[in-house]
Amino acid sequence: MNGKREPRVIIIGAGMSGMLMAIKLIESGMDNFQIYDKASEIGGTWRENTYPGIGCDVAAHYYTYQDVPNPEWSTRLPQGAEIQKYLLGVAEQRDLRRRIAFNKEVARADHDGQRWTVRFEDGEVVEADFVVACCGLLHHPRYPDIPGLGDFKGAKFHSARWDHSVPLEGRRVGVIGNGSTGAQIISKLSERKLDLKVFQRTPQWIFPLPDRRYSQIEKSLLRAFPWVGRIIHHVYRVAFENLFAAAVLKPCWQRRLMSWLCKWNLNTVKDPALRAKLTPDYQPLCKRLVMSMEFYPAIQRENVSLVTDEIDHIDARGVVTKDGVLHEVDVLALATGFDAHAYFRPLELRNVQGRTLSEAWKQGPYALRTVAVPGFPNFFFTLGPQSPIGNFSAISISETQINYILRCIEMFRDGKFRTLHPTPEATEKFNAFIRAAMPDTIWVTGCTNWYMSKNGVPSAWPYSGNRFRKELREPNLAEYELAV
Ligand code: NAP
Repeated sequence: MNGKREPRVIIIGAGMSGMLMAIKLIESGMDNFQIYDKASEIGGTWRENTYPGIGCDVAAHYYTYQDVPNPEWSTRLPQGAEIQKYLLGVAEQRDLRRRIAFNKEVARADHDGQRWTVRFEDGEVVEADFVVACCGLLHHPRYPDIPGLGDFKGAKFHSARWDHSVPLEGRRVGVIGNGSTGAQIISKLSERKLDLKVFQRTPQWIFPLPDRRYSQIEKSLLRAFPWVGRIIHHVYRVAFENLFAAAVLKPCWQRRLMSWLCKWNLNTVKDPALRAKLTPDYQPLCKRLVMSMEFYPAIQRENVSLVTDEIDHIDARGVVTKDGVLHEVDVLALATGFDAHAYFRPLELRNVQGRTLSEAWKQGPYALRTVAVPGFPNFFFTLGPQSPIGNFSAISISETQINYILRCIEMFRDGKFRTLHPTPEATEKFNAFIRAAMPDTIWVTGCTNWYMSKNGVPSAWPYSGNRFRKELREPNLAEYELAV
């Protein structure tokens, strides 16, 4: 280490961000780290979610680490299993598996003013200079608070806990929820020999994003010239950021174009009564857009029925709507989303003053530059509060955040500080900068969406992708309290 300090780093989570943090530490010559994951395999979101039709509506070559291109993507929009295969391949290629301890759930971490003491659910205790929580964003399933859910006698499961042992063929299957997840499940199940009932509380705008298969020639080209993959990554990034991400920020031609395409797509539904049921009363993009060319054909199939009456309760046989009708089902799939505001909790942090993160976040989660909280030294996270989510590639966002976090750890190595944590002033200034742009965004135009936090400010990034990268280009130590 050339006489420099050797930081001990604990990474929580062996998903896409945790693996990237490890790769970056290795590339920077810092070998003293360990990844811990509560599960028994790599992959995070892509390990947990295996529901029928699972895929990503961000282009595959953009949903890829910049430095680890993947010539093998078989379709423009990657399937979930293929993303998981890619992540497993990266772990092999970068020899990460031996650095991961599986079935290790972190319970709490205490900072004594110098270092973190990390305690696991199984009782093990380890120490570290830095803790980096790479726990993903949408990983706490949200079960609906519908009366009688527990009385249902058939099989029921959340979309993120799909029970593949439950047979579906020839049965009556109910799906509650029609967000991005529900739309994928509905599209896939509609092709099977079963009777599908879709319970829709709020209609969604559906953007017609076309998919296609990559040919063998294209794959061979990408294998021979990996730099082509990097160019495609860049092209998709520019396209996504200048279309989907730009459209949410303020009224602009992108918003008008996307709205028009959503409305055009809706008009492909032939039956006017069905179309009316599927027509939202809020602006396109206010909720996170569902991207699908398959949903409208699916909902028009004969074996699919759309229920829009409000759900009153669930009983042993099925779903009872407010009009008194019992919709009998054998299986109930809950595509009811996630708690997007829990972040890495229930992990509890406690600083040397005895203050916990729960206390600090009592009024709602906040962070400096999306990655650190005042009062909690040498603790960082990815995809934290106000991160650009929804309309960006989560991998691309993590890359920006991890490069920033890495720079902080490198400064520790170089002796610039022993501990650092954000000043409340810098953090407030950053959050005021976020709040200032929110009134122009589409998220506050009158819909419910999972971005919205309890304090009425969407936990999302109201500026461009370029601005995000600029804000996180290099840590400014003046924004931190340092101990040397
Ligand atoms: P979601 O967007 O939060 O949708 C949840 C659905 O469940 C909504 O339709 C909601 O209705 C409904 N719901 C919730 N509670 C209900 C209740 N008590 N009664 C009736 N309906 C209820 O969750 P998601 O579909 O899992 O998607 C979450 C996010 O994951 C997406 O926005 C996206 O960012 C990400 N995702 C991405 C992909 C991808 O391809 N990249 C795929 C899947 C998911 P309301 O609208 O009325 O609240």
